[in-house]
Amino acid sequence: MRILVIGAGIVGAALADRLARPLDGGRPGEGDTVTVVEEQWPGAGTSGTSYAWLNASDPADPVYHRFRTEALRTWRDLAAGLGDPSWYRPVGNVVWATADDAKARLAARVEGLAALGYAARLIDREELRALEPALNAPPDVLIAHFPDEGYVHGGPAAQALALRAQQSGADIVTGHRAERLNLRGDRVTGVRLDDGRDLDADLTICAAGRHAPALLATAGITLPLVDPAAPGSAAPCLVATTTPAPGALNGLVHAPELSARQAENGGLVLEADDIDAGVDESVPEERVRAAGDELLARGRTILPGLTARVAGVRRCVRPLPVDGYPLVGPHRPGLYTAVTHSGITLGPHLAELIDQEIHGRPAEALAPYRPDRHG
Ligand SMILES: Cc1cc2nc3c(=O)[nH]c(=O)nc-3n(C[C@H](O)[C@H](O)[C@H](O)COP(=O)(O)OP(=O)(O)OC[C@H]3O[C@@H](n4cnc5c(N)ncnc54)[C@H](O)[C@@H]3O)c2cc1C
Repeated sequence: MRILVIGAGIVGAALADRLARPLDGGRPGEGDTVTVVEEQWPGAGTSGTSYAWLNASDPADPVYHRFRTEALRTWRDLAAGLGDPSWYRPVGNVVWATADDAKARLAARVEGLAALGYAARLIDREELRALEPALNAPPDVLIAHFPDEGYVHGGPAAQALALRAQQSGADIVTGHRAERLNLRGDRVTGVRLDDGRDLDADLTICAAGRHAPALLATAGITLPLVDPAAPGSAAPCLVATTTPAPGALNGLVHAPELSARQAENGGLVLEADDIDAGVDESVPEERVRAAGDELLARGRTILPGLTARVAGVRRCVRPLPVDGYPLVGPHRPGLYTAVTHSGITLGPHLAELIDQEIHGRPAEALAPYRPDRHG
């Protein structure tokens, strides 16, 4: 089968790696050819700016929680197969709450997760100090620890997976945009590139992240993602990185007004929900810079020894399905779609399941997440 993957973010790169890589004892897809088309370079899109927390930290929907815990297992196996690369950081996560209602929610979350068999427990300040010596939590906080969580550096992860796919025989075409899906009747037969070339395929897989709606629209298909241009949209967000801050943090930290972890350059990645909420695509540059300064000020509050400065602030857009759940499955004859929020957590696991189902074994675990479930 000739398989064409559009996009080499974490989803497309993990998929290309999975489809191209020979597995022990042969595989159903042996003899497939895999081509990836990426407009920029692997990891250049949302995956490269993501906060990239690997987690199954919400017990509210036990089916989705189980799906995500499976995804964490897939990451462990994938990373082990790559010799535990430095971009994979299974370093744990601490969360604290100060307000009474937030404490009650955190305690309920820990209890709900523990009941589902997920590693989650409340810890005291002594234990927090042992885990994160540089952190200064305010008095009277409720603290939780999630030791099996972690993060990846999304850009290097996508690059490493795309490289291994290429070494396994995949053709990675970078610097070209798929301008439209080609159709014969109702069947998708490949794509037209921005240089006018047509790439033919038996199966085209749309892994174009936030840009998927535009590509799918060329075949008259609507994908229910939150519109980043709509007023008050939840899709746009903003991430600051700092200059190096050696030893500032060991794992992830989620404080009430700040999420933080180490960055690839040894600095910190900083993000906050309330700041994200005020940043849409029309916000001028000076407000973006001010948001970076505010994130750093919050960082200095919880890390009093922090002397780093803001190194950069990037706006980004989440590929956010309207109901929050993945959009994954056959979409038209010759077309499969794989678009999701939490794609860093889910990417390699989706790749395993998609490999299985395009080779004739439908994946039950994907049944709730079909792209046309909204009718
Ligand atoms: C600030 C922020 C925080 C986040 N936090 C988390 C988190 O903590 N945990 C988590 O799991 N997830 C998180 N996410 C979500 C996660 O990052 C995304 O779900 C994931 O990166 C999506 O990966 P992707 O491969 O689908 O998309 P992308 O990484 O955007 O990749 C799509 C690729 O397709 C290419 N492309 C698009 N259109 C075309 C075309 N027509 N032709 C050719 N190429 C094309 C693009 O150049 C891009 O490289 C966060 C996202 C953001 C922005």
